[in-house]
Amino acid sequence: MKYRNNFLREVEANVEEGEWVKRCMQCGVCAGSCPLGPHWEHPPQEIFMMIRAGKREEVLGSDSMWMCTSCYNCIARCPRELPITHIMHGLAHYATRLGLVSENQQTNKFAQRFWNNLTKKGRVNELKLGLSLYFMNGIPEGIKTSLKMQKVGLGMWKTKRMDPMEILGGHGCKDTSGLQAMLKKASEIEAAKKVKV
Ligand code: SF4
Ligand code: SF4
Repeated sequence: MKYRNNFLREVEANVEEGEWVKRCMQCGVCAGSCPLGPHWEHPPQEIFMMIRAGKREEVLGSDSMWMCTSCYNCIARCPRELPITHIMHGLAHYATRLGLVSENQQTNKFAQRFWNNLTKKGRVNELKLGLSLYFMNGIPEGIKTSLKMQKVGLGMWKTKRMDPMEILGGHGCKDTSGLQAMLKKASEIEAAKKVKV
């Protein structure tokens, strides 16, 4: 395992709210408060300890920050008032910017599909999003999930929560080209931000 002593500085410079990591006193309250932490490879307290220890590959390649559900339990209880939730999401975003996220990372796959669906027309096409999620791990799994969920789908159709005609395109916002221009500008601004290592 490689150690990089300047990893804390790299996190401070590139990760949202990363400058807070050095204030963690390793009390463990966040790890004990996180409803999902025990099921993760590394709960937040451990992630912060690893950043300070320079474990760059282990932190940025970890699945843990992708599992944060933004419940804010940790933020409410941290005695040092660290914005833990934002740091966890910031680490996931930074790993994405560096291209270090595995293609099979499920939360990332979901996020990509949601983003692509939403940004096409400025409104989520529920039917297409649902289908793309069912099939994101291959056709056999997609068919299995679709069959399992058919009652839910029919219920949504009957109660007008989902329109099967959305498969033809669905609704969108009024100014789609304005939306696209805004997104293009935002991605140009993001691309101009240099990673400081
Ligand atoms: S609760 Fe706050 S100070 Fe304690 S380990 Fe977690 S982040 Fe660090
Ligand atoms: S916000 Fe994220 S890290 Fe914090 S307690 Fe909730 S799931 Fe855990």
